[in-house]
Amino acid sequence: MALDPETFAALIDTIRRFVAERLRPLEARVAEEDEVPEEIVREMRAMGLFGLSIPEEFGGLGLTMAEEVRVALEFGRTTPAFRSVFGTNVGIGSQGLVMAGSDAQKAEWLPRIASGEIVTSFALTEPGAGSDSASVQTRAVLDPGSGSGAGGDVYRLSGTKRFITNADKASLFTVMARTGGEGAHGVSAFLVPAGLPGVSIGRPEKKMGQQGAHVCDVNFDATPVPAANRLGAEGEGFRIAMRVLDRGRLHIAAVCVGISERLIADAVAYASERRQFGKPLADFQLIQAMIADSKTETMAARALVLETAALKDEGKPITLEAAAAKYFASESVGRVADRAVQIFGGAGYVADYGIERLYRDVRLFRIYEGTSQIQQLVIARETIRNGG
Ligand SMILES: Cc1cc2nc3c(=O)[nH]c(=O)nc-3n(C[C@H](O)[C@H](O)[C@H](O)COP(=O)(O)OP(=O)(O)OC[C@H]3O[C@@H](n4cnc5c(N)ncnc54)[C@H](O)[C@@H]3O)c2cc1C
Repeated sequence: MALDPETFAALIDTIRRFVAERLRPLEARVAEEDEVPEEIVREMRAMGLFGLSIPEEFGGLGLTMAEEVRVALEFGRTTPAFRSVFGTNVGIGSQGLVMAGSDAQKAEWLPRIASGEIVTSFALTEPGAGSDSASVQTRAVLDPGSGSGAGGDVYRLSGTKRFITNADKASLFTVMARTGGEGAHGVSAFLVPAGLPGVSIGRPEKKMGQQGAHVCDVNFDATPVPAANRLGAEGEGFRIAMRVLDRGRLHIAAVCVGISERLIADAVAYASERRQFGKPLADFQLIQAMIADSKTETMAARALVLETAALKDEGKPITLEAAAAKYFASESVGRVADRAVQIFGGAGYVADYGIERLYRDVRLFRIYEGTSQIQQLVIARETIRNGG
């Protein structure tokens, strides 16, 4: 259910001030230390950010998709690593549970996810299964000796997941693992507490950008996962993961729009201040052309995000629209960032101005939650299936 407009406006206002006054001054420090300060995480918990998308009955804010993308836009105005702190709890880490969890599973985990007491991660990708995510090889095999009845009530989970966001902080993983034959229908989803035997986490990877947000390998070695931790029926895991990603892609698209807006504002401020040939850069039409292109693309991406969010809130399927929003917004923020570097000139290339950092940060958006090529395939598949 949507918040009443005044409450929502107050939330956006609080977030806008938090981003401007608390987060933006810390951008360089977070990038350098590759860590978001604990006091910021505490403030995020207190603001309810970990529970934006969790239903109110479980202690979250229960935002609609239209409301959630507005929040994501605001967080786009700063280093994207800040959003990642609570991003998995709001999106890919929690939504499988929200969509497909039993009442008991929800009651056990959602209140702690919503409060930020625990962090969740989504573990689909493997060393051998990236874009081809239906080919996951991590296995969950029912242990015949484990149960009271003939079937057993514990799965043994074995395999390696790769590039898992927030894995080093997570207490709970949603893991997609093979319980049946080859292909998407052989995949099931499980809630796997990090404390179970046989779970080990690799070291955070060194990355091109988004320092402060960590990704690690996650290994499972015959980890005993109670059958009660399976999300939905056996074989439903891939479908759950794809529904989670539809939503996640739209959220990421909104973040891309927010960052584009930030980059345009920074470029305009710089172009208005910096003088060459006796006038501000902003007076040169070749600079204006770059500003116009960035503005137009960002307005188009924003419209696509808001329209798709409204469709989702109407209960319509958004597979095509979310893929299109993510594809367009992530590609366009790359162009916007490139133009921002160009408008800043040499200052865009050196670290002090922060533009080169954002340029590196946004590169990820074309890769995770489905690469641009995968979005193209999804968009084409759905368009052809719908007859255009
Ligand atoms: C920082 C970061 C965070 C991440 N977080 C998570 C997470 O929390 N959970 C998780 O499960 N995963 C996560 N990922 C993994 C991410 O989703 C994958 O990296 C991504 O889906 C691409 O898979 P891949 O890296 O194996 O590339 P590949 O699949 O090997 O792709 C390599 C290239 O080939 C192209 N390609 C592949 N197949 C086709 C095709 N059929 N047609 C045309 N081109 C194709 C791709 O588009 C790409 O350009 C994260 C990755 C990163 C880098």
